[in-house]
Amino acid sequence: MGGVNGAEALRALYALQEKDLEIDRLQKEVETLPEDLLALKAQVEAREAELMALLERQAELRKAYTRHSLDIEDLAAKEKQAEAEQRQAQSAREQTQYENRIQQIKDRIRELLELSTPIMEAMEEVEKEIAQVEETLAQLRPRLGELLAENAKRVEALKEEMARLKEVREAMAGGIPAPVLKEYEAIRRARKGAGVVRMLRQGQVFRCEGCNVVLPTHVAQKVVQGQLTRCPSCGRLLWKGEA
Ligand SMILES: [Zn+2]
Repeated sequence: MGGVNGAEALRALYALQEKDLEIDRLQKEVETLPEDLLALKAQVEAREAELMALLERQAELRKAYTRHSLDIEDLAAKEKQAEAEQRQAQSAREQTQYENRIQQIKDRIRELLELSTPIMEAMEEVEKEIAQVEETLAQLRPRLGELLAENAKRVEALKEEMARLKEVREAMAGGIPAPVLKEYEAIRRARKGAGVVRMLRQGQVFRCEGCNVVLPTHVAQKVVQGQLTRCPSCGRLLWKGEA
C-alpha cells in the first residue's frame, strides 16, 4: 500500500475510527450505572444481607427452642410415669426413691425452662428486627424497580444509537482495503483506543498524535507519501492528516 491510495485509505480509516470511538464511548455509558441507582442498589443489597443473617439467627434460635421443648416434653412424660409408679410403691424406701427421682426430673425441667426464657426473648427480638428490615426493604424496592426500569430505557436508547453507528461504520469499512482495516483493528484491540492517529507538525518536527513522540525523518517521509506506516513508539498507524 502506498501513494495517494494509501493516503485515501488512511483518511477513510481515520473517519471510520471516529465512529468506532463514538461506539466505544456509548458502550462505556451503557456499562456505567447512574449514581442514584448504584447507591440504592448497594443499600438494598446491604439490607438483604442483614435479613439473611437475621433469618439464619432465627432458624438457630428456633432449633434450640425446639430442642429444649422436646426435652421438657420428654421429662414431663418421665415425671408422670414416675408418679404413677410411686403410687404403686410397696415400701417407704421405694416411695422416697421415687420422690427423689421426681424431684430430679422437676429440677431438670426448671433448668431447661430457665434456659428457654432467654431464647424466647431473643426470638422475639429477632422477629422485631426482621419485621423492621422487611419494612425498610418494602419501602426501598419499588424505587429500585423504577430506577432499574429507567436505566433499562437509557441503555436501550444507547444501544439503538450504537446499532445505527455500527451500520454507518460497516458502510465505511466497505471502502477501506481489508488488510488496512485488519491491521487497524488489531492495533485497536492491543491499545484499547485509537488504532490510527495523525502526524502533527510542530515547527521543524513531526510528532505522533497518539504518544507525542518526535518521529524520525524517514518515518515522517513515508507518512507524507501515504505509505502504511506505524509509529515506532506506540505502534499506531500514522495518517498525515488533512494539512
Ligand atoms: Zn505514537
